[in-house]
Amino acid sequence: MIKPSSKLLLTFLLLIISKAFVLAQDSDSLLKRCASTELDALTISRFPALQQLRIKSEQAIQKRIQANRTSLRTNADEIITIPVVVHVVHSEEDMSIGGANNENITDAQIQSQIDVLNEDYGNASGYKGFYTDSLGVDTRIRFKLVTVLRTYNEKNQFSPITEADDLAEISPAWATSRYLNIWVCRLADRYLGTSQFPVVTELNDLTTGLSTSEDEAVRALTDGVIIDFRYFGRNSPAITSSVYNLGRTTTHEVGHWLGLIHIWGDRNCGTDHCDDTPTAFTKNETTDISCTPVFSECRGVTTRNMIENYMDYSPDGCMSVFTNDQKERMHAVLELSPRRAKLVEFSKISGEDLLVELSPNPVSETLTASVFTPNFQLFTVEVFNQRGQLVTSGATNLSYLDVQKFPSGLYYYRVSSGGQTVTKRFVVR
Ligand SMILES: [Zn+2]
Repeated sequence: MIKPSSKLLLTFLLLIISKAFVLAQDSDSLLKRCASTELDALTISRFPALQQLRIKSEQAIQKRIQANRTSLRTNADEIITIPVVVHVVHSEEDMSIGGANNENITDAQIQSQIDVLNEDYGNASGYKGFYTDSLGVDTRIRFKLVTVLRTYNEKNQFSPITEADDLAEISPAWATSRYLNIWVCRLADRYLGTSQFPVVTELNDLTTGLSTSEDEAVRALTDGVIIDFRYFGRNSPAITSSVYNLGRTTTHEVGHWLGLIHIWGDRNCGTDHCDDTPTAFTKNETTDISCTPVFSECRGVTTRNMIENYMDYSPDGCMSVFTNDQKERMHAVLELSPRRAKLVEFSKISGEDLLVELSPNPVSETLTASVFTPNFQLFTVEVFNQRGQLVTSGATNLSYLDVQKFPSGLYYYRVSSGGQTVTKRFVVR
């Protein structure tokens, strides 16, 4: 039997708890899950040729998926492991790690995000959820954490739409043709995350004039995803949201990085080019963590939205599905996008030799080095001019070299790792 005074206290406590819950939900309702579409619009305004290249890319993806379906390919069941580099950009002057409201998140929080990615892409989250007739599949894509790079910067928040370049300058990407780069920081404007879409078409005779290899070299520097530290991973004091707390912001953004589109096709009743995700009128942007069904009326047909799809905007706890068509689309992109295909190629090498490829060559702006080292061991780079003078010395895992200030001529790019050395020539013009 509870005494009246205790009863009053209990009621009071419950009132405070529910009030705090409502407040948390209120602040969650102001959040914006994803800035990828906005970032893409800005990128296209900077590189107008990209619009045409996107259309060509979409045609190439559709053609590839059709060809795969008719040719009875079996290697879709092969598992592809994507190596991940996490860049933590923080404003903790004393470099202290962890705790609430600290962008310099713990290694445990980072590892929890890698675990979430592997569960979600493997359809092994164990989430039974609201919808048991799940169309979820194992995408056969997995993730392996290679390293965590922590960088202090006095700037304490970044726009996910206009400041991807700043992040890439503060903590430069490791070769985006070999790694998935994830920048974790505090994002401005209440966004949770963003991603750079892949361009799928090779730059060849057909696409000449649509975009230049120099444009692509610039875009390579920012190729990856950016996630706010408060929505990265799970079970950490830094994660305070009650809606976006299971690491699915990153699952969603990596989906874009692999070529997936929002399930409503970014317009009313639009298409994501996947037949097994029902047409949806718009996004499911809600704080309703009970996952109440949502219905759409599109072209006279009423269907239930697949709010459990990772490419919707639903609360983390409502998400549990990548479909078979989404899986096929991601695998087509992994084959067709030049940087993603290179990444897959490198991930399958099991040799012990140090491999180095430089492009473009000759170069006038940014030289890209694709370097394979056994077991992801670190490498150092030295660059010499024709007279044997050192131009760049001892740079660790240097993937992109700005040569705009180099006098034109012949140069040597020397890579050393684990007792092996490889030297390649390149020309600056
Ligand atoms: Zn998105």
